[in-house]
Amino acid sequence: MKPATKFIHAGAHPDPSTGAIMTPIYQTSTYVQEAPGVNKGFEYARSQNPTRKALEESLAIIENGKYGLAFSSGVAATDSVIKLLAPGDEVIAASDMYGGTYRLFTKIYEKFGIIFKYVDMHEAKSIEPLITKNTKLIWMETPTNPLMNIADIAAITAIAKAHQVLVCVDNTFASPYLQNPLDLGADLVMHSVTKYLSGHSDVIQGALVMNDDSLRDQLYFIQKSCGAVPGPMDCFLVLRGIKTLHVRMQRHCENGAMIARFLRDHPKVGKVYWPGFADHPNHDIAKNQMRDFGGMLSFELKDDSVANARRVLSSTHLFSLAESLGGVESLINHPASMTHASIPREERLKNGLTDSLIRLSVGIEDAEDLMEDLNRAIG
Ligand SMILES: *Cc1c(COP(=O)(O)O)cnc(C)c1O
Repeated sequence: MKPATKFIHAGAHPDPSTGAIMTPIYQTSTYVQEAPGVNKGFEYARSQNPTRKALEESLAIIENGKYGLAFSSGVAATDSVIKLLAPGDEVIAASDMYGGTYRLFTKIYEKFGIIFKYVDMHEAKSIEPLITKNTKLIWMETPTNPLMNIADIAAITAIAKAHQVLVCVDNTFASPYLQNPLDLGADLVMHSVTKYLSGHSDVIQGALVMNDDSLRDQLYFIQKSCGAVPGPMDCFLVLRGIKTLHVRMQRHCENGAMIARFLRDHPKVGKVYWPGFADHPNHDIAKNQMRDFGGMLSFELKDDSVANARRVLSSTHLFSLAESLGGVESLINHPASMTHASIPREERLKNGLTDSLIRLSVGIEDAEDLMEDLNRAIG
């Protein structure tokens, strides 16, 4: 099935009781049983909910996986993956990944004896020397947030497989429309559904998608035992968001490309980070593993002071100054003081995340209006 058809029909079945074309919001905590243990497969809504079930089926199909699991947030999905591990296990993680993932690893899980090693993943060969007999998981993110680094999913999963190490890819930035890590060999895909999948800045939700039966059983057990499940209303909103993912992503990509080129030609703008540029260090890998380059990009100003960045950040009208990304409306963000404030400054600078870096989540408005807004703000 081609993507456009898949995004609209994945997991959609008319409701058995009425024929409703949209899966209803089953706003219930429990289900009446005919006799103890005799039921329709639904017992208690932390374990099963029909709206969530429809969404989980949809998530699996759009990521080309067998199983989907929905969580109450992206970090709850990540948290569930780390709960597969035991004290003494080692994780190799991308050095410039999402700040909330870094905080979860360092501030919550290190004290339980899980060991995290951080590495720049833009060259797959830098991973192998870090693998020991205790390495259980490689945590990838590509493109990375906010520097748009690209890691080679197929090359890294091949290394991991040779050592029987699991690979989980945070696919939030690309979305299932642009990139499908399971097809490239990854064991798990994680999403902050909050972003492109929901697409309308009105839901907090996370997801995991996988093929392996035993991984699914372990993660389902964690999902129901720890209880970080999304409510039915949020599942309904995401089911609805997924139906337009492909058309939204096409426009995010078109607008992203236009704005990246506009910024690169702007006399007051310094470096622009966008994987669609032919001179991006891993442009060829991006071209191979992604359908297009997405609507996320970052840039520096030639006047590299924090004050200048702050001036631009508070002068846009269409780009709203806010955390988050992936909604239909454009957002502007200052990683150093906002999304990435939980990463120590020295660590940040080492990874190239400067004080004045500005990140854009390019929405699906008219691109000329967006460029005019940026041009006025940059001055
Ligand atoms: C937002 C985000 C997360 C965390 O997801 P929440 O839904 O906010 O919990 C993880 N990874 C990336 C890349 C993100 O952008």
